Amino acid sequence: MKLHRLTAVILFLLMLAVQGVLCSAFGAESLKINDIVIDNSDRLIYIRGTGSFKGAQSAVYAPTPSNSSVNIINNITPFTISSPFRYVLDIPNSTLIGPSRNYKLQNSIIQNVALSQFSVNPNVVRIVFSVSKQSDLSKFKTYTNGTDIVVKYNSSVIDNSIQYKFYTPTGDSNKSSLLQNTSASLVYNTSNEIIEINPRLQTKYYLSQISQNSDGLILRGLGQISMQRASYNDDNTISEVILDSATLASKLENKTYNIPSSNKIKATLTISKLTSKKIKLTLKSDNTRDFRFVISPDGQSLFVSHRTYVINTIFSTNTAKVNSYKMTKNSNGYSIFDIVFNQAVTYDVFELNDSFYLDVNNLGDYNTVLFEQMLKNSDIKVQVLKISQDKTRFIIPMKDLNFAYANVESNAKSIKLCFKEKAIIPAVKNEVLIAAKNVEKEIKDEKKSQNLNVIYIPKKDEKPEVEKPKKKKEPPTISSMKKVVLDPGHGGVDSGAIGGGYYEKTLNLAVAKLVKERLEKKDIYVYMTRSKDATMTLEDRVNYSNESNPDIYVSIHTNSTVKEDSFGLETHYYKDDSFELAQKIHSVFASEKNLKKWDTKDRGVIKSCFYVINHTEAPSVLIEIGFISNLEERAKLLTKERQEQIAESIAKGILEYLK
Ligand code: ZN
Repeated sequence: MKLHRLTAVILFLLMLAVQGVLCSAFGAESLKINDIVIDNSDRLIYIRGTGSFKGAQSAVYAPTPSNSSVNIINNITPFTISSPFRYVLDIPNSTLIGPSRNYKLQNSIIQNVALSQFSVNPNVVRIVFSVSKQSDLSKFKTYTNGTDIVVKYNSSVIDNSIQYKFYTPTGDSNKSSLLQNTSASLVYNTSNEIIEINPRLQTKYYLSQISQNSDGLILRGLGQISMQRASYNDDNTISEVILDSATLASKLENKTYNIPSSNKIKATLTISKLTSKKIKLTLKSDNTRDFRFVISPDGQSLFVSHRTYVINTIFSTNTAKVNSYKMTKNSNGYSIFDIVFNQAVTYDVFELNDSFYLDVNNLGDYNTVLFEQMLKNSDIKVQVLKISQDKTRFIIPMKDLNFAYANVESNAKSIKLCFKEKAIIPAVKNEVLIAAKNVEKEIKDEKKSQNLNVIYIPKKDEKPEVEKPKKKKEPPTISSMKKVVLDPGHGGVDSGAIGGGYYEKTLNLAVAKLVKERLEKKDIYVYMTRSKDATMTLEDRVNYSNESNPDIYVSIHTNSTVKEDSFGLETHYYKDDSFELAQKIHSVFASEKNLKKWDTKDRGVIKSCFYVINHTEAPSVLIEIGFISNLEERAKLLTKERQEQIAESIAKGILEYLK
């Protein structure tokens, strides 16, 4: 480890000497590494990136390998280190998106995977796999399929025992040929290199195929689908469904598909990558509320179709029975409705008339006795309805429920719905709404405006507004004032991270506005890169800041990760002249007192080569105010009190620095 630190110091010194070259390394040719995905078998680690290896230079930074098998693939030279035993991958010409990460794997031969930006010039991302035995090191092999890197442990082929037929149309055998079985598989070429990778994923979903039949679109992948509650625009012509913890095959990115319909109802589905860990499905039709997303028994496929077709179709010839119902409440007041079946089920969820519906498409008997027992012990009055021989509907009245966390999760034989009984705090609802109102288009329908999760989606043909900020004219008196550029992250078509139906862009703006108020009270002149929900490129933000010539630049973001238990506060800086600012803000923002009061965690001041803090001329920082992906932290972030406290400490830190 000491050696590495020394190397890092030398690299750092070298880096200073060639600072000019540094930023050009972020051209189109470099690879951006988002994250890793680990399959169920613990034999495959899938490193997801965007960009390409093709531009990688042959000058690879890596010590000469000594004691291991080495595969050189597109300029990647793995090597191993002993005590502890580690397999190290240095990926040239690459940038890690986000902070360094360390994954501890349970029940796995690979004990630990660490990702970090090892050096910035040349740009090298280092990935270190730790194992307990030296003999394990030789079992690693590395492959690439262009943009993704796959680290394969062991030579075994992945278990492909989970095969199923999701959807078999009745009476027409030709149709079923459209639907191939899904199985986890690796396809090798003659030199035993992986040419196609279909990892089964543990914590994520990998959407890899689209096919269709006469009445719907089938989205097929590997892993486990976790779907967020759908959001609709005000006339229901557009709806959005977010798949959490999901990655997308690049061939499907930004593709639009017609949803076939035998009753000639026109609809399209666009698939896009919202973040590196979320897929957005955008449905457009005259009434998108008429469409259903049916989840397959193994949770790996989605069938998108009109409700009339879904209702009249037999999805599985095996009807399931209910083994148990549970309505439990966790310490945060969230209710979890958990149904366990005797076999795998297909289901879909939707919302209608202030109720949440769960249709189980192969449930013959819902077990009246168990159901009534559950109802006795629950304050939530779930209704049940047999809608056909093989379909059962559960209806949860939503009037007083707050679906802050509306994810539906299934594990083949069980379905879990999570929701909260009452609004977190009535004030929160108003606050979020006020923020949303200020930044988003006025929602005319009064009823809908009371719904927390209504979001603004541009209507058909409506181009999202692009705000090109103009430099404010400075009255002569302010020339002596200190100036700050506040940059609320994302906006407009770019929602940033999404958690429980809430958009990062909205939170960032709400907090930035509160910081502005406080700074202005102290006679600081504040420039905002955006003061409403507008689309802005990173370049726009940088140009705006540089033209405004402020004393400092502060970007406000909300963090997100696939690991839902991650939480805490981060302050990022990149340039040396920004470190002091980062420290000053962070020490107030993540003070002992605040951490205690808000039960959160100090994740540190981090050096990160994010575009905005790397290209702005003034000392600049990027603050991650907490994790929108974490249920508890999100609930806090949505409160006015927490937002004000964060704003207060950011403002305080800024004032300290400007003193
Ligand atoms: Zn962000």
